[in-house]
Amino acid sequence: MRAARCTIVREWQEAGIKTSLGNEWTTRSLKVMLCNPRMCGLRELDGELVRDMDDELVRGQWKPIITVEEWTAIRTIFDSRKGYFIGRDMKIMKPHQPDYRDHSYLLSGILRCGRTQPDGKPCNTPLRVTRKKGVKHHSYACLSKAEGGCGRLSRRGDLVDEYVSEAVLAKLEEAAFTASAGQVEWGKEDQLKDVVSRLDELTAQWNAGNITNNFFFKLAPGLEKEIARLRAESANFAGSAKVRQARAGADVADIRRRWNLPEKEGGFPISRKRAYIREALHTVIVYPASKGPKTFNPDLLYPVWRED
Ligand SMILES: [Zn+2]
Repeated sequence: MRAARCTIVREWQEAGIKTSLGNEWTTRSLKVMLCNPRMCGLRELDGELVRDMDDELVRGQWKPIITVEEWTAIRTIFDSRKGYFIGRDMKIMKPHQPDYRDHSYLLSGILRCGRTQPDGKPCNTPLRVTRKKGVKHHSYACLSKAEGGCGRLSRRGDLVDEYVSEAVLAKLEEAAFTASAGQVEWGKEDQLKDVVSRLDELTAQWNAGNITNNFFFKLAPGLEKEIARLRAESANFAGSAKVRQARAGADVADIRRRWNLPEKEGGFPISRKRAYIREALHTVIVYPASKGPKTFNPDLLYPVWRED
């Protein structure tokens, strides 16, 4: 929209042209005006153009500024940009994350409704954040029926946040542990043992006088060199495995520490935590709680891990 501001909006601002409410024009108000079907004499109600009984578009009594075709073209351009970042040159860039507009909560757009619908299929609608006046914590709730959800599922947000955070951290710790544990095995112990026993055997034969000096000194140095090489490799491996293990452990320990720290004390911003969560899992399905006492039951949260 920068291009628009540079031309139309700036010119209007400089010319002192105001909106119908007497405000300064902005890129946003220009966009709202251009998208308004009144521009071409039509009217919109709840996102739908108003039609008469014969399904014909109802035309207003006011004089259209542009034709319906022109307006449709403008609207199509704006609609095609919805959900995308727009570059300086008005080029359409990469799409927004599904949760682009609602990133102030840990799990908005990540949780999904697990309630079974009358048709037997899960609702599966992404839950959104709701806040009630006078209630300290937020909630995650399914959308209303009109908005495409079932409207019948809601869960305490702070407890879900805490549970899912813990599950993701535990998953990271587990992954770090397996990754480092998998590399502890050097895997060449048998090879080293074999060379050592060949040298031992050769030495025993030589001591017993069964082989000549010439033969012994031709073979022994090669075996000794091979043993030295394998031993060095083994020591080297053990050392670096320890370092790797320590590093992986320290990384996760640091993530855990910063997860719960305020941002100004070096804690992660919510966006960073959301990135970790998104990396670890596809979604968390929230199943409806059974009737009865309202206690939080983590068994009703089902994380769908990425690697599973
Ligand atoms: Zn639902």
